[in-house]
Amino acid sequence: MDFVFFFLGYIGLFSVVSLFVLISPSSPLLTRLSNWIKTCALKVVYTVIPNIILTWGQTAVHYVFYTRNHVMQLVFGVLVMGGNAILMRDILPLLYIFEPDKNHLLVPMIFLFSNAAAFHLSCSVDPGRITRQNVSVLASLYEVDGKMYKSGTECSTCKLVKPARSKHCSICNHCIHRFDHHCIWTNNCVGAGNLRFFLPFLLTLQAMVINGAVMGLHAMVLYTDHLKILDTGYVDPHTGQVLPITIPVLIQHLFMQHPRCVFLISSLLMLAVLLGLFTIYHLYLVLHNQTTNERYKMSALTNAVTSSNNGTSGSGVAHCSNLTGVTPIGGAVKTLSKEQWGAQHPRQCMKVGDTIRNGKHRVNNNMDGGRKTQEEKLSHASDEELSCFYNKGVWQNLKEVFLPWSGLDRKTKEPYGAVPKKKIKRQ
Ligand SMILES: [Zn+2]
Ligand SMILES: [Zn+2]
Repeated sequence: MDFVFFFLGYIGLFSVVSLFVLISPSSPLLTRLSNWIKTCALKVVYTVIPNIILTWGQTAVHYVFYTRNHVMQLVFGVLVMGGNAILMRDILPLLYIFEPDKNHLLVPMIFLFSNAAAFHLSCSVDPGRITRQNVSVLASLYEVDGKMYKSGTECSTCKLVKPARSKHCSICNHCIHRFDHHCIWTNNCVGAGNLRFFLPFLLTLQAMVINGAVMGLHAMVLYTDHLKILDTGYVDPHTGQVLPITIPVLIQHLFMQHPRCVFLISSLLMLAVLLGLFTIYHLYLVLHNQTTNERYKMSALTNAVTSSNNGTSGSGVAHCSNLTGVTPIGGAVKTLSKEQWGAQHPRQCMKVGDTIRNGKHRVNNNMDGGRKTQEEKLSHASDEELSCFYNKGVWQNLKEVFLPWSGLDRKTKEPYGAVPKKKIKRQ
């Protein structure tokens, strides 16, 4: 009965937190829903939940998820220690009863301590904060691609020119070099400085989760075999007949005999799938030298282009939105209105550096002449070309992650160190 209350409490807490995350004003989830769903959901929420609880919940969610704080680090610690406590108290004794000669403690301890070390480093190592001292050095590490990153872009908060692949984190209130995402579990950004620790953190966590699930399942199988439960039967309460044990009945029996073990195993199996997808996604990004931020930017750019094409299909005029900057070189220069240009040159763009000679649009292809910069050229590259812009092959990509300063000379290596505690901004 204790377990049922514990389980219901867990489900209830999970539902309440999910609800508050969903209805939080700053939640990106809500903004993606259609207006109709949003209005209906808000009406239901505001009718059912009293105002004071709603305000309190939203404030709490904003504090936990959108400011720098140690709450989720603490939650992570409690979850890891709680899972390991069940492993030590319930699963290990069963394993030592049925397999006394084997060492069941070594592997979970290796995973636990290596994960704790990677977690500590992910939390404490500077993710790559950009300062006046290191901005020029960091700007030399990556080229701008002209589409996701443009040269000379200044951060409106830090008042520094952003190096390519950097982004301002509104939670940390700092520009981060090779910004990936802000992780609420580590209370730190993931960037060039600590991606080398964040990946081992994910991998050791995944290993710890899978190992815990396997150990729990192994203990349950040994317990079932030892008592020969599958060879016995049970009495049907309705008919009074003795029926053979089925798998659902066995799970129910194990659930009643070892509630914490079954709860831990089922939670770990679910977590293994979710965490596995997240880990595989990050491995994919690292192997292709991309960041979560860049994937997001690419999809935003693709959506913008798609909607622009859908809105102007057939006219071709919108492609020529700017006819200024045309250089008249020889011949009769004819000034065309946007409509005239669109009618004569459907779906063709006029760019800075292009010329009109004898009424004909001449595209400037003189790359070496310096008229068209690398950035301009890249701004017209396809999404596919851009998605592999920083991809230098698997080994070089891995080297960039695990030896992020290998491209710098010895004197300027490690342009930033640990996160200074005084810099942590609380909002
Ligand atoms: Zn900034
Ligand atoms: Zn951050």
